[in-house]
Amino acid sequence: MTGGMRALTLVADRKLELLELAAPPPPEAGDVQIRVKAVALNHIDVWGWRGMAFAKRKLPLVIGAEAAAEIAAIGAGVTAFKPGDPVVMYGALTCGTCKACRDGRDNLCENVGGIMGFHIDGFARDLLNMPARLVIPVPPAIAARDAACAPIAFSTVQHMLFDNAKLEPGETVLVHAGGSGIGTVAIMMARAIGCTVITTVGDDGKVAKAKALGADHVIDYRRERFEGVVRKITAKKGVDVVFEHVGAETFNASLLCLKRGGRLVTCGATSGPSTTLNLMQLFQQQYRMIGSFGATLRHIRTSLDKMAASLTPVIDTEFDLAQFAGGLSRLEGRQVFGKIVVHF
Ligand SMILES: [Zn+2]
Repeated sequence: MTGGMRALTLVADRKLELLELAAPPPPEAGDVQIRVKAVALNHIDVWGWRGMAFAKRKLPLVIGAEAAAEIAAIGAGVTAFKPGDPVVMYGALTCGTCKACRDGRDNLCENVGGIMGFHIDGFARDLLNMPARLVIPVPPAIAARDAACAPIAFSTVQHMLFDNAKLEPGETVLVHAGGSGIGTVAIMMARAIGCTVITTVGDDGKVAKAKALGADHVIDYRRERFEGVVRKITAKKGVDVVFEHVGAETFNASLLCLKRGGRLVTCGATSGPSTTLNLMQLFQQQYRMIGSFGATLRHIRTSLDKMAASLTPVIDTEFDLAQFAGGLSRLEGRQVFGKIVVHF
């Protein structure tokens, strides 16, 4: 490339253009230059593409929130990487110096500069410069398309199930939307530690796929009320943990699925953000409800280690960069089983 590079850019709501931009300058001290290989899609991309009135951002905006890459060049003082190393990147510009950052709770950074691909320019471009401290090496033998699913899909689930919900071997977990990107990861991660997994899916075609992935029970929520089936499966006891991200359509029934003292962890509201809550039920049943957003650098490292050991992401479809909008439509339509990855 001679001075120019491709950048997939949101120029207006639902309007993406593959633009030619100037390539970044050589990386400054402490930075690395990243050559992007694959971008994985998430619901945050759909929100950004549709346009969200409350998102503080300026268009045009380079999209792409989760990606795999290789090191193209290193700035002065960077010793952890060399050109050609496979890497993934943390997807928010944290400060690295506040108490949360120093404690390794990166997703609680007090001075975060924004989520890449949503508030500020993201990864759907050939080259970008980033602080080396936000770049994580990828173990050998993990393909770029798989590594691209570590920074958000895998690490969000790692954070939700294990840090937040404290899921233990032998417990029972209800995973909503088992065919979604994070749903497939949650099924695999819970099964890998010996949990019983109940999952919901929205069409017949996904039942066999969710079973093949390791789910013990698969409920087609369009045919049956999932809360009734869960009570039957658990002999009226309820589950230890509910993995929520569907939101308004499922939230209250999800609470009905919990055993006393059970934990509900949520990271999304794809069906709508508002619901009413029975507070008597909340305290009498001693539920714990935990909001979870993003993850930390440590969770991304753990995710890559789990991929290297045994957990391979379920890939729904792979697209070329120019077909990115097709991938977003597919994700918006909930037709997916697993992750959509876009190759450079
Ligand atoms: Zn910070």
